[in-house]
Amino acid sequence: MADNPGVSGWQAILPNRGPQPALDDSIDADYLVIGAGFAGLSAARRLNQIDSEANIVILEACEVAEGPAGRNSGFMIDLPHDLASQDYAGNADLDRQQTAINRGAIDFAKSAFAEYHMPGEAMQCTGKTNAAATPKGVLFNKRYAAHLEQMDEKHRMLNAQEMQELTGIDYYLGGLWTPGTALLQPAIYIRSFADALIKNKPVRLYENSAVNQLTKELSTESGTLWHAKTNKGSVKAPKVIIAVNGMIERFGYFQQRLMHVFTYGSMTRALTQNEITELGGAKQWSFTSADPMGSSVRRLSATGGDRIMIRNRFTYEPSMEVTKTRMQAISKDHRQAFDVRFPMLKNVEMEYCWGGRLCLSRNNVFAAGEVEDGVFSACCQNGLGTAKGTAIGVIAAEQASKATRSLIEDYKAEEPPKKLLLKPLMYLGANGYMRWKEMRAGKDK
Ligand SMILES: Cc1cc2nc3c(=O)[nH]c(=O)nc-3n(C[C@H](O)[C@H](O)[C@H](O)COP(=O)(O)OP(=O)(O)OC[C@H]3O[C@@H](n4cnc5c(N)ncnc54)[C@H](O)[C@@H]3O)c2cc1C
Repeated sequence: MADNPGVSGWQAILPNRGPQPALDDSIDADYLVIGAGFAGLSAARRLNQIDSEANIVILEACEVAEGPAGRNSGFMIDLPHDLASQDYAGNADLDRQQTAINRGAIDFAKSAFAEYHMPGEAMQCTGKTNAAATPKGVLFNKRYAAHLEQMDEKHRMLNAQEMQELTGIDYYLGGLWTPGTALLQPAIYIRSFADALIKNKPVRLYENSAVNQLTKELSTESGTLWHAKTNKGSVKAPKVIIAVNGMIERFGYFQQRLMHVFTYGSMTRALTQNEITELGGAKQWSFTSADPMGSSVRRLSATGGDRIMIRNRFTYEPSMEVTKTRMQAISKDHRQAFDVRFPMLKNVEMEYCWGGRLCLSRNNVFAAGEVEDGVFSACCQNGLGTAKGTAIGVIAAEQASKATRSLIEDYKAEEPPKKLLLKPLMYLGANGYMRWKEMRAGKDK
């Protein structure tokens, strides 16, 4: 299994949750869903909505919320947010379509939030601000605002003083607020989703149950029966949804087409009352950076106390593993990004530092569709899996069950992910390019 490096603060600040037992039996199902992240859980919920009698099994390699789904920054973004672009904007027509897909996903997530009675902090509909700390960042925001104008999307520019009133710090020159982003405490959202979903019998979830083999058991005219094996058990099912993001490569699909990039987060210890007073500003705020290579910063005031979370850096890791040296360097970078923003909190330690896998394609598309008879992929979320993973999970469930109506109407099957260059070239090229762009982000990083 691939790495989940470091301890994710989102999980660690929560009370322990007893995981579901590992699979230790040979069982049958109508649908097998592999992976319990945004895509897998959304797929299972949608299957259950379409047919409440269907026997659905979810196999998750780790504990729920231990993987990327529970260790991200929690921005479930409705608008275009192309990380590879200069200022997030792309072609206006494609961006309108992507926005409609993201909004379909956010509506699905909101309905899960309500139906499953999740705690309020699991999801808050606050919108988000693209924060600019450099003149270049301000320019990116202006360009992005013009793009939003063209798309007829609501937005508001914030000046330096408004940014200071909100944050308590005089670091930012401006911001661009948009209303549609839902903000997650990702570990609470994913845990609550999984725990409520399995109350809807017959949905069963097995944790610590990595699928290490998926083979054809039987092929007849009426279809194929698939056999998935874990260390101690196995599942036979005619329909399989693979919702493991970049790990789908290890099932033999989309090889040499997916880029395995890591990004990283750090979270402070809980601030003391004196530190909170010293900092000032609002108790909660959340910024992505105006520069796609910059830092996302969140101030939290919730379970686990008042804390600050910072995310930055991207590294390309085709092995899907991150070395200790890499983690140490990233942790230093986070400290630096924190210190320049919050000089009054220089004695506040970072309690957690972690990394997580993203999966990108060169042409910014999903790795989706029926990859073999009865096997559906819901992978490659291009770094924005909270919304995109939810969307493609719903779509895969609808494809697998041949549903007549889609909740994500604007989705059209895309071309497959483009082939990558040779591995050593990709490694040097991608890491060099991302590092160069990060350095050019200056104070936005
Ligand atoms: C630090 C950080 C910050 C981020 N911030 C954001 C953000 O603000 N907004 C955003 O939209 N995205 C963000 N992301 C990206 C986001 O987390 C991912 O895009 C998203 O989690 C992908 O969802 P998924 O369900 O497709 O895959 P995953 O969340 O990766 O879930 C796949 C699951 O499959 C399991 N699995 C893998 N192999 C197997 C196997 N063989 N058998 C069984 N199970 C298996 C894994 O353990 C995992 O739990 C961030 C990521 C990181 C690391």
